[in-house]
Amino acid sequence: MKLDLATVLVLHPLSLVMGSVCFLYAMSQSRHHRGLGKMAIAFLLLGGGSVLAALGENQALPYAFWTFTSFALGPIAYCLFWVGLRNLVHEQPMQRSLWVFLIPASLIVAALVTGFHLSNSPRATIFLLTMAAFAIAGAWLVFSDPLQERLVSRHALSGVLCAKALTACAILVSIDFPDIAAISPAAAFCVLVLCQYGIAMFVLIFVQERVESRLVKLTETDTLTGIRNRHWLHDHLPQTIAPGDVYIAVDIDFFKRVNDVHGHSAGDQVLVATAQRMARILGEGALLARMGGEEFGLFERACGAAKALAMAESLRLCVQSLAIRYQETFIPVTISVGVAVAQESMTPALLMRRADEALYDAKHQGRNRVNVWAEKPVAENTDVLQSEHVTRYAAS
Ligand code: GH3
Ligand code: MG
Ligand code: MG
Repeated sequence: MKLDLATVLVLHPLSLVMGSVCFLYAMSQSRHHRGLGKMAIAFLLLGGGSVLAALGENQALPYAFWTFTSFALGPIAYCLFWVGLRNLVHEQPMQRSLWVFLIPASLIVAALVTGFHLSNSPRATIFLLTMAAFAIAGAWLVFSDPLQERLVSRHALSGVLCAKALTACAILVSIDFPDIAAISPAAAFCVLVLCQYGIAMFVLIFVQERVESRLVKLTETDTLTGIRNRHWLHDHLPQTIAPGDVYIAVDIDFFKRVNDVHGHSAGDQVLVATAQRMARILGEGALLARMGGEEFGLFERACGAAKALAMAESLRLCVQSLAIRYQETFIPVTISVGVAVAQESMTPALLMRRADEALYDAKHQGRNRVNVWAEKPVAENTDVLQSEHVTRYAAS
């Protein structure tokens, strides 16, 4: 099948207009995404440049006019697209990227001074190299992921931008070195058209995927403390519990008094500080959540009684050492902790109930202490058992 270059060159601006419509649509769905407007304008500018070049090739426009405008629109649009993409992907304001516009500005000044745009070969070469360079820079932007969002569309978008850069190089070779070119200009332009559609499609998917993952995160996060919530913990507890798995229930002592004496916002501050401090000292494997009010839950697989006790005691100590200052007053804060170590054929619900029982006993034994529920004795030589704040048995 032989591709008709004239037809492909008509499809090219159409693909850019379609892409622009996609970006505008995504923008209309959510105002939170920066950069989409710039990307839409960039695609429209490229489409305009493409139409000008097509009209010029058909002698419908003065030569000096169309060669200059269609050339100048390219670097401006690629630069604008890159800035928009950076705003979108890195969520950075435009001001930090303004320096990039020096690139199209220098190319335009060079064209005005030297008039290189009047000759086909240097015009096409510089145009296509700019396209390739900005596409590669865009692919890197998307790939580098400074916000650490694990989105699959990020790789697809990065890939299609790399494909666009390679296509620009293929077009360049097919124009400048037709004898060694592996692909005809019409076929290369056809791939370019597909790349434009691909970019538009994966930007849309990227935006959608980001919204979805943020919504999911929101439903799993406790809005006050920033740690996970009860819903997330229940979702992440294993269906079957193995011996040695541990659940730890934590409750702030006399928290109502904090609210009564210092006010609700002081109470909130205590909650945030306590949650954040506990989250900071826990390892990767520990699943911590705010279960509601001033209660927290913590699950760790294959932890064992000795390690669980040490972990609970270090939580107690680090919360006790918090210096929470509220309006010139220091608010002392302590926690009571109930630890439950799983035995054979225990359900998650039973393990949590055992931890609650241990916590309940810790409250009755005077608060600011750790209490453990375990069927088998915890080894006597466990250091943490020397602490006067730790009780070895709660319920049996
Ligand atoms: P104990 O040592 O027995 O646990 O006593 P306590 O005062 O900590 O427990 P109690 O259950 O009597 O009081 C818990 C209080 O926590 C009551 C409720 O108003 C308060 N609370 C629950 N959620 C929040 C919140 O998000 N912010 C604030 N500031 N207070 C909250
Ligand atoms: Mg309490
Ligand atoms: Mg409570």
